[in-house]
Amino acid sequence: MTQFEQISQHIWIMHAEHETDRPLLAAIVGERRTLLMDAGASPSHAAQLREELMNRSLRLPDIMMLTHWHWDHSFGLSAWNVPSIGVRETAERLRLLKGLDWSDKTLNDLVRQQIINDSSAGHIRLEYGADRNIEIREPDILFEKKLELDLGGVSCEIHHVGGDHAGDSCYLFVQEDKTLFLGDALGPSVYGGPRKYTSGEFLRLTNEAFHFDAHIYVESHSAPVGKAEFRQDIDRYVELARLVEACGKNQTNIEEGMKKFLQVQELPQEFVHALEWFLTD
Ligand SMILES: [Zn+2]
Repeated sequence: MTQFEQISQHIWIMHAEHETDRPLLAAIVGERRTLLMDAGASPSHAAQLREELMNRSLRLPDIMMLTHWHWDHSFGLSAWNVPSIGVRETAERLRLLKGLDWSDKTLNDLVRQQIINDSSAGHIRLEYGADRNIEIREPDILFEKKLELDLGGVSCEIHHVGGDHAGDSCYLFVQEDKTLFLGDALGPSVYGGPRKYTSGEFLRLTNEAFHFDAHIYVESHSAPVGKAEFRQDIDRYVELARLVEACGKNQTNIEEGMKKFLQVQELPQEFVHALEWFLTD
């Protein structure tokens, strides 16, 4: 069941759903305008959010922004008749997906070309069913580096940060609510070959995330967390990335260093996977 809730003065979220990999969507409601964070995976995902907003008499989105081009964040775009914001790469990536018929053959071709992966193809089949008439739209407003929005009593900053997961990844910072939306930016690359993390990129992105004066951190496929919990979780991966940098990809040394840091005998599975991604070229 989808959960919809207010997490701060101006922010309402609809939680992520794991069955079809739907990401979390958010509405930032100002006195004059409502900003939508991410379009949703499909028109039906978008409709669900619209219904939640209407049920609570909240102002519907006037404008929206995309955290990155991946299907689960952008394919709902055609369902919102409002201007959309993204970086140039978001527009370019989505342009390549326009006009496709989304048949099984097309999905298989996209997987073979490593534009998407098997898991995304499976989730698209589940989200859309057999009749996949998907209308891809590009964002209307393109920016580089940083864009600020004044919604009336609440200001938002969109920062293009890039990284391993997607070159067009953006952070959204809601100043008054001290809330940082990270999209999927801290995740590994998921398309274009095996999953991969670059230690330098991961350290840069986490550094940039810590730079904001945020009290709430929101990653698109998990629940929002407070500052202490976010730091505690991320600091362990930061340590892993630092070890990768320091040990020149010597797996045994990295594993020993990480076990010492975590004070464990056996490296937990999540770090075994993350290390594998860090060591993939
Ligand atoms: Zn993504």
